Order: sequence, then C-alpha cells, then structure tokens
Amino acid sequence: MIELTDISKSYGTGAGAVEAIKHISLSINKGEIFGIIGHSGAGKSTLLRCVNLLERPTTGSVKVGDVELTQLSTTQLQRERRRIGMIFQHFNLLSMATVRDNIAFPLELAKLPKSAIKQRVDELLQLVGLEQHAGKYPAQLSGGQKQRVGIARALANNPDVLLCDEATSALDPQTTNAILSLLMDINDKLGITILLITHEMHVIRSICDRVAVIDGGKIVEMGDVLDVFLKP
Ligand code: ADP
Ligand code: ADP
Repeated sequence: MIELTDISKSYGTGAGAVEAIKHISLSINKGEIFGIIGHSGAGKSTLLRCVNLLERPTTGSVKVGDVELTQLSTTQLQRERRRIGMIFQHFNLLSMATVRDNIAFPLELAKLPKSAIKQRVDELLQLVGLEQHAGKYPAQLSGGQKQRVGIARALANNPDVLLCDEATSALDPQTTNAILSLLMDINDKLGITILLITHEMHVIRSICDRVAVIDGGKIVEMGDVLDVFLKP
C-alpha cells in the first residue's frame, strides 16, 4: 500500500545542510498498522511527511496504492492526497469552526453536495463518538475529544491510508489508550492502513503489527513488534 524506495531528504544546502533521512526504503502492506519509533530529531516527522509529500524527498520514489506521487502535477497530487488522511500531535483543528464544520471541511474542499456532506459528517460523528458535541468549538473539548475530531476529519474522504504524527503524545495515559483503541477499531472495521510515528514504546506495543526503529535518519531495525522488542 505504501512503498518508499531509497528516499533521502536534506534541509538547506551547502555547509549548513541537514540530511534528515538517508536512503530509507520501506514497504507497508494494506491493512497493516506500522509504527516508526525513534528519539527526537531521528527523522520520524520528515519520513512521515514524505509519504503525502508535505515534504518532498530530495531523491527516491514514493508510491501509495501503486501511484508514484513524486511524478504528479499539483492537481493530480491534490486528488491523490484525499486517499491519505493525517492526524497530528496538536490536532490542528480550525479554532473558529465547530466540530461539525471541522469534519466537513475536507468534504467541502472535495466539493460534495451539501446533503451528502451532512450525511457523511453524521456517520463520522457516530464513528468517533462525538454526536453530542457536534455544535461545540475546539476550545470547549478535552484533548481526547479534539483528537477524535482530528480522526473524523482525516477519515472524511474515506482514505486508504491514515498517517499519525505523534497522535497521542499530548494526551494523558488513559486518553491515549482510548484513542489507540479507536485507531485499532478503525483499522479493523475499515481495513485502513495506518502508519504512525511515536517516541513511545507503549504505543508501538499496544497497536502495531510491525515497527521500524529510526536513528540518525536511517532505519536501524525493522520487523514484527514482538521479534524486535523481545530480542536480548
Ligand atoms: P523527529 O520527528 O524524529 O523529531 P525530524 O524529522 O523532525 O525528526 O527532524 C530530523 C532532523 O531534520 C533534525 O535534525 C531536525 O532538526 C531537522 N529538520 C526537520 N525539519 C527541518 C526544517 N524544516 N528545516 C531544517 N531542518 C529540519
Ligand atoms: P516534532 O515534535 O514532530 O519532532 P519538531 O518540533 O521537530 O516536530 O518540528 C516542528 C516543525 O519545525 C516542523 O515543521 C519541522 O519541519 C520544523 N523544524 C524542525 N527542526 C527544524 C530546524 N532545525 N530548522 C527549521 N525547522 C525545523
């Protein structure tokens, strides 16, 4: 479902250049929950953002569902990105918009008719358990509720892939577990492929099938979660 081949990404040029990721290849299967773990500065965010080309790799190929993204025009890329949802550590909600309008936003961008938008938003509110909070603003929600809005928004266009950028790092342990359960549920029900980055081992152990450990911009270890973390 996701095929990264020999991707590298440098920020800046010349003497000040930082090579954030170096010759990374990674293949993630449809329906898998794949985790990338590493310390701060290891290159996790850069790698994740290369999957939907929020960052353009300096070299290498990025395929999502057999489409090579680096070769697309801006319009084609916008369309392909609808198949790739993303959630964030700090939720990135529109603070002036209600829960309902935050979730509707990507559907409006996709120019769906109003009645279809309403129906889809209702489904999504139910999926993430926020029916009672549709009219509230982000400031009136707890962290866990905000992330539920983020998840609903990310799923609005029925993506094949969900990218999670430290999605539970701003949440307390109990809320973290509730959000991880929701992600597993979504993976199970919708068959969506999940790629997440985290610095927390607990997250990997709780929900991932496979894991890659990244350090200094390189993958230093990769395999089934149990194999990687039970090694002496
Ligand atoms: P992580 O997500 O694991 O903390 P990042 O991908 O954010 O790692 O960063 C990897 C390296 O790239 C770090 O050295 C970081 O300082 C650098 N870096 C990340 N983003 C930028 C940027 N926009 N400009 C310059 N350097 C960056
Ligand atoms: P994270 O918590 O995901 O590692 P960071 O705090 O490293 O995120 O980065 C937050 C933002 O700052 C990102 O957009 C990243 O690209 C940018 N950034 C990170 N490191 C640098 C850097 N050394 N120079 C410029 N921008 C950076």
